[in-house]
Amino acid sequence: MHNTPKDNMEWKEKLTPEQYRVMREKGTERPFTGRYFDSKEKGVYKCAACGNPLFSSDAKFDSGTGWPSYYTPISETSLAYAEDTSHGMRRVEVTCGKCGSHLGHLFDDGPAPSGKRYCINSVCLDLEKDEEK
Ligand code: FE
Repeated sequence: MHNTPKDNMEWKEKLTPEQYRVMREKGTERPFTGRYFDSKEKGVYKCAACGNPLFSSDAKFDSGTGWPSYYTPISETSLAYAEDTSHGMRRVEVTCGKCGSHLGHLFDDGPAPSGKRYCINSVCLDLEKDEEK
């Protein structure tokens, strides 16, 4: 992300302080505190910053980590990826494929069929429930 000061001001107006910290400053919410880690409701999880569809509830699983976890995105272009070597770790950062906001990280210890675990901060997500469509 390469944000101008004007971009940052616009994001600050659009997002809550916690969303700004996580989505635009690559922060992490405390585990077991977010609104979706335990959610079993059906629908589509969208980017809280731009509305881009990210994950189906059908791909959500209980990882026990305290963050909402999915084994696959809803489409190939939903997400973008970057290498993250912060905090002495080598991880794959997951960002929104449309607006570039930080969402979480991708790990290789997920369930079948993908073996992937998309570990996402609740605060970056907005669940559009099936019955609301
Ligand atoms: Fe987005």
